Amino acid sequence: MKRITLPDGTSVTALGQGTWMMGDSGADRRKEIAALRAGIDCGMTVIDTAEMYGDGASEELVGEAIAGRRGAVFLVTKVLPSNASRSGTVRACEASLERLKTDYVDLYLLHWRGRVPLAETVEAFDALTRAGKIRRWGVSNFDVDDMEELAGVADAGACAVNQVLYNPEHRGIEFDLMPWQREHQIPIMAYSPLGQGGRLLRSPALAEIAKRHGANPAQVALAWALRDDNVVAIPKAGSSRHAEENARAADLALTPEDLAAIDADFPPPRRKEPLAMI
Ligand code: NDP
Repeated sequence: MKRITLPDGTSVTALGQGTWMMGDSGADRRKEIAALRAGIDCGMTVIDTAEMYGDGASEELVGEAIAGRRGAVFLVTKVLPSNASRSGTVRACEASLERLKTDYVDLYLLHWRGRVPLAETVEAFDALTRAGKIRRWGVSNFDVDDMEELAGVADAGACAVNQVLYNPEHRGIEFDLMPWQREHQIPIMAYSPLGQGGRLLRSPALAEIAKRHGANPAQVALAWALRDDNVVAIPKAGSSRHAEENARAADLALTPEDLAAIDADFPPPRRKEPLAMI
């Protein structure tokens, strides 16, 4: 599986697994745990969750799914902006660790910007790093101006990723944020890379490309995100079948003709667009 190098030199798999809305329904629990385990078996070892998801239910599900294989997983979770004060961040992280049944997370993200000054959250992240509770930290839903402000309060190379919405329907970041992050060597973690399983996967362009490659539209969407070597994509799959299909997208190389067909239906940005968020 293709890998992406973080600013501290650690490499992670370019395909990971999202977990939003997993753990919400007791009826799906076994299937969701099996899906995450199947994804890990296929090499998608980056697992993304957040204290917000299901009010902790997603973290609890992830904790169960990775029991006995913690060392094989690169675990990502997020602090809510309303908890992101100096002491609130530490408390939130400790509660996440308890739900995840682990004593450290590999990457801890600020879920989006709130009212707490960035310097205060960064101070808490640094304290958590020193305490060994997080291995590194990053941000989510930050636009270029936020990244610049962050660069003013954090050590160079300290922010490991910025997790943002990225798929053919939402590619405004190609105009400015992606070049900025490339220049500063901060990977993009692409969320909702499958357009949440909606219209994107029914697009004629993706269907046509999928047919040419003997693949499916979800795999085309993932291969599209991974065409950039500064991107980690974290699709969410609720079944083992979807997880296994998604992992195979790492082997799909799109041709210039495929990329042109996607550009025709989902044009790249020509000017600055406000950062899209879900
Ligand atoms: P995705 O774009 O990953 O789409 C998930 C949907 O796609 C589900 O309905 C899933 O169905 C379907 N799907 C998955 N694999 C396939 C497949 N092979 N074929 C057909 N359909 C498929 O949406 P998410 O919004 O969940 O984004 C991914 C992750 O990103 C989240 O789970 C979360 O971890 C993170 N995220 C972060 C945000 C942030 O603010 N930082 C915001 C939003 C998401 P099924 O469940 O049946 O497999």
